[in-house]
Amino acid sequence: MSGREQKHWTDDEVDALLEMAGGMPVASIAAELGRTVCSVQIKASRLGVSLDMSAAVWCPSCSTWRTGLDSNGRCPACRMRSLADAMEARWRNETPPDAVSQPAPAPVAKRPPLAVVRAEEAAAVERHRARYNAAKMRLSRARRSGGD
Ligand SMILES: [Zn+2]
Repeated sequence: MSGREQKHWTDDEVDALLEMAGGMPVASIAAELGRTVCSVQIKASRLGVSLDMSAAVWCPSCSTWRTGLDSNGRCPACRMRSLADAMEARWRNETPPDAVSQPAPAPVAKRPPLAVVRAEEAAAVERHRARYNAAKMRLSRARRSGGD
Protein backbone atom coordinates (compact mmCIF):
# COMPACT_ATOMS: atom_id res chain seq x y z
CA MET A 1 0.00 0.00 0.00
CA SER A 2 1.37 3.33 -0.96
CA GLY A 3 1.22 6.12 1.58
CA ARG A 4 1.17 8.66 -1.22
CA GLU A 5 -2.33 7.73 -2.34
CA GLN A 6 -4.81 10.58 -2.45
CA LYS A 7 -6.87 10.48 0.70
CA HIS A 8 -10.59 10.49 0.03
CA TRP A 9 -12.24 13.82 0.83
CA THR A 10 -15.15 13.47 3.21
CA ASP A 11 -18.15 15.78 2.99
CA ASP A 12 -17.05 17.42 6.23
CA GLU A 13 -13.62 18.12 4.80
CA VAL A 14 -15.14 19.58 1.63
CA ASP A 15 -17.39 21.78 3.78
CA ALA A 16 -14.39 22.91 5.81
CA LEU A 17 -12.47 23.69 2.63
CA LEU A 18 -15.36 25.72 1.23
CA GLU A 19 -15.57 27.57 4.51
CA MET A 20 -11.88 28.42 4.63
CA ALA A 21 -11.21 29.04 0.93
CA GLY A 22 -10.14 32.61 0.33
CA GLY A 23 -10.34 33.33 4.03
CA MET A 24 -6.92 32.13 5.04
CA PRO A 25 -3.66 31.17 3.38
CA VAL A 26 -3.76 27.88 1.53
CA ALA A 27 -0.94 26.55 3.71
CA SER A 28 -3.10 27.11 6.79
CA ILE A 29 -6.05 25.38 5.15
CA ALA A 30 -3.83 22.44 4.28
CA ALA A 31 -2.58 22.30 7.87
CA GLU A 32 -6.14 22.45 9.22
CA LEU A 33 -7.17 19.57 7.01
CA GLY A 34 -3.98 17.58 7.47
CA ARG A 35 -3.39 17.59 3.73
CA THR A 36 -0.75 18.87 1.38
CA VAL A 37 -1.05 22.31 -0.22
CA CYS A 38 -1.08 20.56 -3.58
CA SER A 39 -3.98 18.33 -2.57
CA VAL A 40 -5.97 21.35 -1.35
CA GLN A 41 -5.27 23.25 -4.56
CA ILE A 42 -6.38 20.36 -6.75
CA LYS A 43 -9.56 19.86 -4.73
CA ALA A 44 -10.35 23.58 -4.74
CA SER A 45 -9.94 23.81 -8.48
CA ARG A 46 -12.18 20.74 -8.95
CA LEU A 47 -14.79 22.43 -6.78
CA GLY A 48 -14.36 25.67 -8.70
CA VAL A 49 -13.45 27.50 -5.51
CA SER A 50 -10.91 30.33 -5.44
CA LEU A 51 -8.17 30.17 -2.84
CA ASP A 52 -7.15 33.71 -3.71
CA MET A 53 -7.20 35.80 -0.54
CA SER A 54 -6.97 39.04 -2.50
CA ALA A 55 -10.31 38.28 -4.13
CA ALA A 56 -12.30 39.88 -1.32
CA VAL A 57 -11.67 43.41 -0.10
CA TRP A 58 -12.74 45.18 3.06
CA CYS A 59 -15.11 48.11 2.47
CA PRO A 60 -14.52 50.66 5.25
CA SER A 61 -17.84 52.40 4.55
CA CYS A 62 -20.09 49.45 5.34
CA SER A 63 -17.52 47.42 7.23
CA THR A 64 -18.11 44.34 5.14
CA TRP A 65 -16.04 42.11 2.91
CA ARG A 66 -16.84 42.92 -0.71
CA THR A 67 -15.80 41.78 -4.15
CA GLY A 68 -14.21 45.10 -4.99
CA LEU A 69 -14.11 48.87 -4.51
CA ASP A 70 -14.42 51.58 -7.16
CA SER A 71 -12.04 54.51 -7.59
CA ASN A 72 -13.96 56.38 -4.87
CA GLY A 73 -13.31 53.53 -2.47
CA ARG A 74 -16.93 52.42 -2.47
CA CYS A 75 -18.17 48.87 -2.87
CA PRO A 76 -21.11 48.11 -5.21
CA ALA A 77 -23.51 48.08 -2.25
CA CYS A 78 -22.30 51.45 -0.93
CA ARG A 79 -22.50 52.96 -4.41
CA MET A 80 -26.10 51.77 -4.76
CA ARG A 81 -26.88 52.92 -1.22
CA SER A 82 -25.68 56.45 -1.93
CA LEU A 83 -27.79 56.55 -5.11
CA ALA A 84 -30.80 55.35 -3.14
CA ASP A 85 -30.15 57.86 -0.35
CA ALA A 86 -29.90 60.70 -2.87
CA MET A 87 -33.10 59.62 -4.60
CA GLU A 88 -34.98 59.33 -1.31
CA ALA A 89 -33.70 62.74 -0.31
CA ARG A 90 -34.94 64.21 -3.60
CA TRP A 91 -38.30 62.59 -3.06
CA ARG A 92 -38.57 64.04 0.43
CA ASN A 93 -37.40 67.32 -1.05
CA GLU A 94 -34.74 67.50 1.58
CA THR A 95 -31.06 67.97 1.47
CA PRO A 96 -29.21 64.69 1.60
CA PRO A 97 -28.32 63.69 5.12
CA ASP A 98 -24.74 64.41 5.98
CA ALA A 99 -22.57 61.42 5.50
CA VAL A 100 -21.79 60.65 9.09
CA SER A 101 -18.45 58.99 9.12
CA GLN A 102 -18.27 56.52 11.90
CA PRO A 103 -15.07 54.77 12.80
CA ALA A 104 -15.21 51.49 10.95
CA PRO A 105 -14.64 48.38 12.99
CA ALA A 106 -11.42 46.61 12.18
CA PRO A 107 -11.69 43.77 9.70
CA VAL A 108 -12.40 40.45 11.30
CA ALA A 109 -9.37 38.22 11.12
CA LYS A 110 -11.10 35.54 9.15
CA ARG A 111 -12.44 36.49 5.78
CA PRO A 112 -15.61 34.69 4.72
CA PRO A 113 -15.53 32.56 1.56
CA LEU A 114 -15.87 34.59 -1.62
CA ALA A 115 -19.16 32.90 -2.45
CA VAL A 116 -20.60 34.26 0.80
CA VAL A 117 -19.11 37.70 0.11
CA ARG A 118 -20.66 37.73 -3.35
CA ALA A 119 -24.08 36.62 -2.16
CA GLU A 120 -24.18 39.14 0.68
CA GLU A 121 -23.04 41.93 -1.61
CA ALA A 122 -25.61 41.06 -4.27
CA ALA A 123 -28.35 41.06 -1.62
CA ALA A 124 -27.24 44.46 -0.32
CA VAL A 125 -27.13 45.92 -3.82
CA GLU A 126 -30.64 44.61 -4.46
CA ARG A 127 -31.96 46.10 -1.20
CA HIS A 128 -30.59 49.53 -2.08
CA ARG A 129 -31.74 49.25 -5.68
CA ALA A 130 -35.28 48.50 -4.47
CA ARG A 131 -35.17 51.64 -2.27
CA TYR A 132 -33.85 53.64 -5.21
CA ASN A 133 -36.58 52.43 -7.55
CA ALA A 134 -39.31 52.98 -4.96
CA ALA A 135 -38.17 56.53 -4.29
CA LYS A 136 -37.87 57.24 -8.00
CA MET A 137 -41.41 56.00 -8.60
CA ARG A 138 -42.81 58.04 -5.71
CA LEU A 139 -40.97 61.08 -7.01
CA SER A 140 -42.37 60.80 -10.53
CA ARG A 141 -45.85 60.02 -9.17
CA ALA A 142 -45.72 63.09 -6.93
CA ARG A 143 -44.65 65.22 -9.86
CA ARG A 144 -47.45 63.90 -12.08
CA SER A 145 -50.21 64.42 -9.52
CA GLY A 146 -48.94 67.62 -7.98
CA GLY A 147 -50.34 70.37 -10.23
CA ASP A 148 -48.85 73.19 -8.29
ZN1 LIG B 1 -19.41 49.24 1.27
